[in-house]
Amino acid sequence: MRLREILQQKGRSVVGIGADRTVLEAARTLVEHGIGSLVVQDDGHLLGIITERDILRLTARSVPLEETLVRTAMTVDVVTTTPDAELQATMTTMTERRIRHLPVLSEDGGLEGLVSIGDLLNACRVEAEAENTHLREYIQGAG
Ligand code: AMP
Repeated sequence: MRLREILQQKGRSVVGIGADRTVLEAARTLVEHGIGSLVVQDDGHLLGIITERDILRLTARSVPLEETLVRTAMTVDVVTTTPDAELQATMTTMTERRIRHLPVLSEDGGLEGLVSIGDLLNACRVEAEAENTHLREYIQGAG
């Protein structure tokens, strides 16, 4: 299965935040949407990504979230992927790089969507269930 298929099922909407908003606003946006990451864009250009883990790290150091800008807390070297990427290969990338969120970009750099490790695990589960059903039907048919 390719990411294109997963995005068709989960939808292409990606929640973002401006680089000059505070990390407290980012935390509130994450909670409001029940998600774990926000992309940071400027004029359609991907500037960075900020996740719950980045915010937790600041909190552990008692950094005041209301005085800290997203641009200083986000990761700027964003790892991205494409709609053609395969599910298994993408899971490997995320596991190896220890990231749980991956923006999906088209060839011209436009944001096509975002997949989380949870989305990919769910897709794996659906794929495994379909395979099980086929195998069961095959065995019953052969018997
Ligand atoms: P996560 O596991 O997604 O919460 O992210 C763990 C760390 O990796 C955080 O510092 C994130 O900012 C960073 N991170 C998450 N996703 C990406 C990504 N696609 N590219 C680069 N860094 C990322």
